[in-house]
Amino acid sequence: MTQHKGNLFILSAPSGAGKSSLYKALLEADSNVRISVSHTTRAPRTGEQHGREYFFIDSSSFLDMIAEDAFFEHAQVFDNYYGTSKKAIFDMLDQGLDVILEIDWQGARQVRALYPDAIGIFILPPSMKALEARLIGRGTDAEDVIARRMAKAVNEISHYDEYEYVIINDDFEVAFEQLQAIFVAMRTRTPLIREIHSDLINDLLS
Ligand code: 5GP
Repeated sequence: MTQHKGNLFILSAPSGAGKSSLYKALLEADSNVRISVSHTTRAPRTGEQHGREYFFIDSSSFLDMIAEDAFFEHAQVFDNYYGTSKKAIFDMLDQGLDVILEIDWQGARQVRALYPDAIGIFILPPSMKALEARLIGRGTDAEDVIARRMAKAVNEISHYDEYEYVIINDDFEVAFEQLQAIFVAMRTRTPLIREIHSDLINDLLS
């Protein structure tokens, strides 16, 4: 596999673990990091922008992209298609940017199969109680809805050990430091340094 100049990260978590707050803080703190924007056939919601939340395309364009093998992974959710485009990601990786895919464990498996160098990070809540408190949120959901969301969260958590790194999001600052540390460490891996700093290495060895 060709060595890209940036790293591909998979970030997964049960909903309620604080994943969005963590990656948003990272995007603000680190100008070398980008989040992957998916393609979808669903209509934009109020306030959503093409190219920011999603690339909004029609079904026939989406089916064309599937036929062209343009997706890393894609899925049908209710009546709409969602997918992660290979080109968008490889363009960023080639520019030396680190790219985050915010996907669940099933999407993660598909990506790993295509791109074994992807680095998986799983965010865990500090306790079931904390997770439940986050899921209950404003208290508007019925008990059975919360029970279903908890069961879904437990299923997601059961896949934590398919990931290279696990962050327990108890204290936000500590979790954020750990996330940053993973990104920094990945940038100093030998294959990447060999690719990015080949002139320096050649110079040092000449
Ligand atoms: P929404 O329409 O509410 O933005 O998203 C609906 C669902 O589609 C969510 O569960 C979201 O995680 C999922 N989704 C969004 N983008 C992608 C993608 O690129 N691939 C897959 N497999 N699912 C996605």
